[in-house]
Amino acid sequence: DGPLTEAVLAALAHADAVRRLEVRANADTPEDAVRARALGAQGIGLCRTEHMFLGERRTLVEQLILARDDTAREQALAALLPLQRADFTGILAAMDGLPVTVRLIDPPLHEFLPDRTRLAVRLARSPDPDPHDRALLDAVERMREQNPMLGLRGVRLGLAVPGLTAMQVRALAEAVVQRRRDGGRPRPEIMIPLVGTVEELRLARAEAERVLAEVAAEAGLPEHDLDCPVGTMIELPRAALTAGRLAEVADFFSFGTNDLTQTTWGLSRDDAEASFLPLYLERGVLAVSPFETIDEEGVGRLVELAVAEGRAAAPRLETGVCGEHGGDPASVHFFHRAGLDYVSCSPFRVPAARLEAGRAALDGTEGTDSR
Ligand code: PEP
Ligand code: MG
Repeated sequence: DGPLTEAVLAALAHADAVRRLEVRANADTPEDAVRARALGAQGIGLCRTEHMFLGERRTLVEQLILARDDTAREQALAALLPLQRADFTGILAAMDGLPVTVRLIDPPLHEFLPDRTRLAVRLARSPDPDPHDRALLDAVERMREQNPMLGLRGVRLGLAVPGLTAMQVRALAEAVVQRRRDGGRPRPEIMIPLVGTVEELRLARAEAERVLAEVAAEAGLPEHDLDCPVGTMIELPRAALTAGRLAEVADFFSFGTNDLTQTTWGLSRDDAEASFLPLYLERGVLAVSPFETIDEEGVGRLVELAVAEGRAAAPRLETGVCGEHGGDPASVHFFHRAGLDYVSCSPFRVPAARLEAGRAALDGTEGTDSR
């Protein structure tokens, strides 16, 4: 409550009055959403749903992995549905009236599957090995990938596992119906991860829209009443390079600059920090980590290209960024100049992003945004 707080609040109010970039937050729980909102977030730009399948729900995920037929898979998905619906209800309530971008599941399989070594050790040590563990280990072995970050993730997983996308979209749609009945104003958006071709996006979108219409019918609502924006992440160079075509199917682009940096540089986001990146920084090969501050000459040019081609194809296309760079001060200036509509970052970085967005607006330079 001291003079310092007052000065900070005044600076934030000033920044909010002049900035053009919206600031949203990345949040996966109602608690984070509440925190983000208190810090001035204007919505959730990225709700990562894969985290919701860990912890106690692992047994259901195992059931899904082990499902040998449609019935077993459908049972696992049916058990996950009410849990996922409750996740969304809480987040939509915390962000009532503001956009909530729900990203369909995007786990690199190594983060999601049961630990292979632990399973193998448990089986080897047990005098009477559990057949469930044995089947699980077999399944994990079958699904093992050399490069999980370049493997069965994102939209690929949604297309490979029948019913998975439908379960998530149904959970969201049912949460929306429930919130509306409770007098809320939910504003969901559906985001498809790791898209590389327009066909992937078309299939995922068609599935989402089919389920939205189905839930609307069950709730006695008009066919398109639950329709909501469906967009794509741009986190592969191919997506950026084919942005014009993607924009014909997407209502919005959200740049996943973590993966886009990884795939543009051919640099593992999980390993680089621990291996040669420090050496590169020390030797001056790099002035700053490209995972921290947007690399304007490479990744940044893909962003600019995708914004320009996306908007040429679809002038009303909304654009934002939800990678870590969304909360990095220098990168926020870049995103302002590139003409994005919003940045989305961790809740605790929201105030700094608001300030930087204000400063960027006062700097006055703006690039490709011609609207
Ligand atoms: C990204 O890749 O920038 C992104 C936001 O998605 P995630 O970090 O979950 O891969
Ligand atoms: Mg990503």
